[in-house]
Amino acid sequence: MSYKPFPLTKKQIEDISIKYETPFYIYDEKAIRKNAKKLVKAFSVLPGFKEYFAVKGCPNPYILKILRDEGFGGDCSSLPEIILCEKSGIRGENVMFTSNETPAKEYIYANARGAILNLDDISHVDFVKKALEGFPELICFRYNPGPLKEGNAIIGKPEEAKYGLTREQLFEGYAKAKEYGATRFGLHTMVASNELGNDYFIETARLLYELAVELKEKLNITLEFINMGGGIGIPYNPGEKEVDYTYIANGIKKVYDQIVVPNFDSDIKFFMECSRVITGPYGWLVTKAIHEKHIYRDYIGVDATMADLMRPGMYGAYHHVSVVGKDNVTDENGNLIPDSDAHVYDVVGSLCENCDKFAIQRKLPKIEIGDFVVVHDAGAHGRAMGFNYNGKLRCGELLLRTNGDIIQIRRKENYDDYFATLDFKGLATFAGSEPQIK
Ligand SMILES: *Cc1c(COP(=O)(O)O)cnc(C)c1O
Repeated sequence: MSYKPFPLTKKQIEDISIKYETPFYIYDEKAIRKNAKKLVKAFSVLPGFKEYFAVKGCPNPYILKILRDEGFGGDCSSLPEIILCEKSGIRGENVMFTSNETPAKEYIYANARGAILNLDDISHVDFVKKALEGFPELICFRYNPGPLKEGNAIIGKPEEAKYGLTREQLFEGYAKAKEYGATRFGLHTMVASNELGNDYFIETARLLYELAVELKEKLNITLEFINMGGGIGIPYNPGEKEVDYTYIANGIKKVYDQIVVPNFDSDIKFFMECSRVITGPYGWLVTKAIHEKHIYRDYIGVDATMADLMRPGMYGAYHHVSVVGKDNVTDENGNLIPDSDAHVYDVVGSLCENCDKFAIQRKLPKIEIGDFVVVHDAGAHGRAMGFNYNGKLRCGELLLRTNGDIIQIRRKENYDDYFATLDFKGLATFAGSEPQIK
């Protein structure tokens, strides 16, 4: 069982909620660091290992600074994400720019700052050359293996995914990049999302190493690195099993020894761009029960909404829910079962959308108004995907430091934030009636 209990007691959460009103996200620094160290240790069997944390999963510079301290780089797909990395001390080739449908100005910025450009299409070779009025010395391509690999629910089948170059285009792309002056090369792919199968990642690495050999034979190009992308899953459901870093890393090392070692004089570095598995299990969305309602079903209305955590509403994703101070017990499979006092609830937010539900027909301990209801595994793709629909203000973020202190790392939005892009002065002089023909 891989259930990560909420790290605060009822007393602690009551005290904090006086200073920081619910809802909020809270991240556990100690657990994030422990996990980061475990990952680095396991993958250090691979030469030049580096994890480029995908910023989109948890775009908070405090978290990025912690991850940088653990030796991580950042994977970005927009200019503001690059700026977040830079503010956190992640710079130059520690920034991987794995973007798609990228505006020219973002390539220009990324290149000027020394980030690694990872191109998503064959046409981007010329696009980049034109935008930069030259070509970078180091270039990476994103490979889409097409029907070769089995995809899964979120990204879908690779041949249906919008990302990357086909096999033929890849060879053409490297040849052209070389002609344009590139001398250092990387190869990227990402064929999974929230994948829990350990072997899947070993097979992905094999695919990339085999291609590396072919690129050397056909184009006389020696790759400097391969980048397996992100996509390592987490056990959202307490009954699922977390991936085994050591198994994956050792499996990839074995493939490396078979394929790379006999074919290359130099090392090929191994990179990844995970985010979900890095911070996902170590962040919680803390809400308060503010209403209960009994119609055809029993509902608990909490003060957070789908605008704070989109995954359940958008993907029908399971997120474990617990009630602070009312412990559930586990069965032999590690599944949490509430005690005899169990109730079946839909836990819902206040959006005028019926999909705004954190849990549907879920067995939970009896919930009273004022109880803290915690949504688990919200540390990646949680706050980051927040939105303002229905005039909802996005919540803030707290960090539980390793010494037990709790600090605010992002304040919650206020009404001024919500209205910031509107010009009310202009509105006052805007008559609202149709302009007269002059
Ligand atoms: C989303 C994304 C990641 C991170 O994915 P996780 O599932 O959070 O590990 C990494 N690389 C790219 C290019 C992505 O789009």
